[in-house]
Amino acid sequence: MPITDPVKLEIVYRRVLNKMVCRKCGALNPPGAKKCRRCGSKDLRPKKRGAGFKK
Ligand SMILES: [Zn+2]
Repeated sequence: MPITDPVKLEIVYRRVLNKMVCRKCGALNPPGAKKCRRCGSKDLRPKKRGAGFKK
């Protein structure tokens, strides 16, 4: 079920992208995570993109 409403889309993207991704195992972690919940690595990167996400 695709979402077409741009306002809803933005909310969804913001929620989906507001996460931390482990550089080691690629697991998604909560935004405030200090270390990976899967492998325990502290090498996390924020998964955030700006307005150009759709392209
Ligand atoms: Zn990990």
